[in-house]
Amino acid sequence: MFTITFDQSPLKVAEAGASYNTNSSSDNSFKEIRLIEVLVDIPAGQFKSQDRDEPQLFTYSIPTHINVEPGDILSVPFGAMYLGAIAIRPTTQIPPGLTLEQIKPVDEVVSKGLFPPYYWQLLQQIATYYQTPLIQVIRTALPPGLLRRSQRRVRLCVDKIPPSGVENFLHPPALKILQLLQANKSKDMSWAELKKKVGGDYWTRKGYQDLLDRGWAESYLDTPKTVQAKQQLAVILIADPHSAVDVTKRQQEVLQILKSCGGEAWLSEFLRLCKTSSSTVKTLAQKGYVLLEEREMLRLAQGIEQTPDRPKTLTPHQTNALNIINQLSGFAEILLHGVTGSGKTEVYLQAIAPILEQGKSALVLVPEIGLTPQLTDRFRARFGEKVCVYHSGLSEGERYDTWRNMTRQQPQIIIGTRSAIFAPLSPLGLIILDEEHDSSFKQDRPAPCYHARNVALWRAQMENCPLILGSATPSLESWVAVRGQQGRGTPKHQNIERFDPISPEPNSKSLINDCYYLSLPERIQSRPLPPVEVVDMRQELRQKNRSIFSSRLQRALQQLQERGQQGILFIHRRGHSTFVSCRSCGYVMECPDCDVSLSYHHIVEDALQTSRQVVPTLRCHYCNYGELYPQRCPQCDSPYFKHFGSGTQRVVEELGRLFPELRLIRFDSDTTRTKDAHRILLTRFAQREADLLVGTQMLTKGLDLAGVSLVGVVSADGLLHLSDYRASERAFQTLLQVAGRAGRGQDPGRVIIQTYTPEHPVIQAVQHYQYQPFVERELQERQELNYPPFGQLIALKLSGLNQAEVEQTAEQFAEVLFSIADEIPELEVVGPAPAPILRVANRYRWQILLKLLPGTFIDPTRLEQLQEVCPRSIRLMIDVDPLHLG
Ligand code: ADP
Ligand code: ZN
Ligand code: ZN
Repeated sequence: MFTITFDQSPLKVAEAGASYNTNSSSDNSFKEIRLIEVLVDIPAGQFKSQDRDEPQLFTYSIPTHINVEPGDILSVPFGAMYLGAIAIRPTTQIPPGLTLEQIKPVDEVVSKGLFPPYYWQLLQQIATYYQTPLIQVIRTALPPGLLRRSQRRVRLCVDKIPPSGVENFLHPPALKILQLLQANKSKDMSWAELKKKVGGDYWTRKGYQDLLDRGWAESYLDTPKTVQAKQQLAVILIADPHSAVDVTKRQQEVLQILKSCGGEAWLSEFLRLCKTSSSTVKTLAQKGYVLLEEREMLRLAQGIEQTPDRPKTLTPHQTNALNIINQLSGFAEILLHGVTGSGKTEVYLQAIAPILEQGKSALVLVPEIGLTPQLTDRFRARFGEKVCVYHSGLSEGERYDTWRNMTRQQPQIIIGTRSAIFAPLSPLGLIILDEEHDSSFKQDRPAPCYHARNVALWRAQMENCPLILGSATPSLESWVAVRGQQGRGTPKHQNIERFDPISPEPNSKSLINDCYYLSLPERIQSRPLPPVEVVDMRQELRQKNRSIFSSRLQRALQQLQERGQQGILFIHRRGHSTFVSCRSCGYVMECPDCDVSLSYHHIVEDALQTSRQVVPTLRCHYCNYGELYPQRCPQCDSPYFKHFGSGTQRVVEELGRLFPELRLIRFDSDTTRTKDAHRILLTRFAQREADLLVGTQMLTKGLDLAGVSLVGVVSADGLLHLSDYRASERAFQTLLQVAGRAGRGQDPGRVIIQTYTPEHPVIQAVQHYQYQPFVERELQERQELNYPPFGQLIALKLSGLNQAEVEQTAEQFAEVLFSIADEIPELEVVGPAPAPILRVANRYRWQILLKLLPGTFIDPTRLEQLQEVCPRSIRLMIDVDPLHLG
């Protein structure tokens, strides 16, 4: 286990107005003075900086009689005011342009222990590892307006005050405060109100200090007001729908839906769900089947109340896994590798129960909110009110309330997306990352480009609690970690031994770094995994079938309709399909140097400023290798040599043409934008309002729909040939996950994958559910080219409005980097190259890739050089361990 120290790099922040200069002065006389950097709660609009509402770090000195620790809430002088602030980190550096005398002392510690003690170390660790200023990390971690809403208050310590005669020796301002507080029924008043009544900040402080010294009064940070209970109408089922005789068919349906919601729902949500009017519900209320009732609506996002359920009797594999998890006391990393439908969630639920009993909280991270309603329901059914949801889709008020509630009410369970890793739970007994392989755990922008799995690992180590990584298709990083090979995003890579392809024993413990490998190799009730059928689309072309659906998939859809079963049709996202391949032989154009597919580009040549000419080109996004787009396949000379695309729209049109009676629900980012859309669409599908769910990536993420027997993948090729070294891993994970949606209920499942390259190793591995052979081969390839998880990648992403300037800056940066690489032989600079999608939102994008050999670590200050020479018009993003390039 590694320990975390505050980084010794120079300050990146300064007194207001000063530049972000670094100052490496280390005059020994300063060491005696205790300095602390604080985040000041500046009222919005008070302090104009480039970014709106940007929080600031300022340096203050700590008076000898006060003890300040990171995370304490402070009161600090700021101009003519006293403001609330959070202590962030001790420092020995005086901000440039200031003398020691100009640094003001901290006024007071208002509140301690609002954040877990290691919390600020964690943020510091993220700042260092992800090469991002600390203040940006703080902005990512804390909900907006956290400080703004907290209020400093003063209360009397009633039992410490002598019964009489105090007037005779108290100074007037102290006496005034005492009297004001005594006159107040709660013996307590806000600082702002006191100030108004006492007559200004100065006298209030003087008076208060006197009372404080005597121990008669103290100040504290107001706990948030019990959230203004909002009243809202709920609809509750009070009779069995089956016994309802005097109702219409539609009313009967509405009752059934209410029953399937667990018998209770918020009226507004419910009306949306059944697409009915409130008069229908009112009629049902008059007939005595439902009850309408005003209820308190807390701003805590807890999901819909569920009928309580009980722990399920575990299968032997589940029991095994749970026993090992339950025995853990301190930090451990557990890879829970369970095939789709093997009951991982039940293991999480039963692992959490004893944690709560010990008075500790648990944190559950999930990839996307689309998946959360179902999962949240299961947690709510088991743990009721102890479950809260936290993600960036909540309103500011909800986020704030949930956050404050986390710092007060323990123990609890937070379910959330990536950013919930910053939930200030303490003590924390368990962290779970469900679907840990999912790339949405990595933040793309803005900086810090953190991976929640890395942060979770650091957090679990600091809090000394277990971390469970659950997946049917573990990431290569996690696989390598459990089978005893260091390759994880720790600040310094440890020595890497020679690669030795041994697999972890199920339920084994790796001695190297407290890692456990737990396996759930079977589905619940020994249901079989659905067989995967691969359709060779080249054959279809030969048989003159030009449709995007093979005859086999067409027959399967036909059957679906006849048998009244349900299916899922998966379409790879449009826009990513920029690779070029042959429809006759499957040949794919690849970069001769980088082992990734080349991407199709329309390059507009405008060199002479006279004519514009569109030149179709193929490019590598790593090294900028390029060649002209060939008219015919270089392998078989076929003219069917095309770049790809089969968007949702096209598939839906074709379905409408071939199967006009098939009822569809589109499930993609276009149709799930509104709040609750996921829940509503999935509930409608579960109620069999549609036969087919057609959608993109979202479908792959943990949906547990018992009615689905058929899964179709329209074209696997878009996934296979992304211009990215991770393409194979991602394709394998996506295909196995989407296949895993079939056959989870009574009906056996069936999976049909269409592709032009059926011999592709990914397709082969998916067809036979061969996780381990696939992963080991993939690892070998990665190792040969020093790709992660062996070597490390850092992407420098530049963007700007002027294409020439972006390119020029990229070239300049490359020069600087090449000279750094001359000193560090383990560093390879690849590029610069244009990003896969050259222009986004009018900004041109170029990138440079740094490749570090295993065991190398690049000092963050080396890259800061680049920020310094970066022109103002160019934006530079440093993405450490990038998952997507471009
Ligand atoms: P996974 O997360 O591994 O894909 P789930 O946890 O969603 O699998 O479990 C699949 C289904 O099996 C769910 O409907 C769940 O309620 C059910 N299930 C899980 N464990 C058990 C068990 N021990 N006994 C009966 N049913 C179970
Ligand atoms: Zn060909
Ligand atoms: Zn290349």
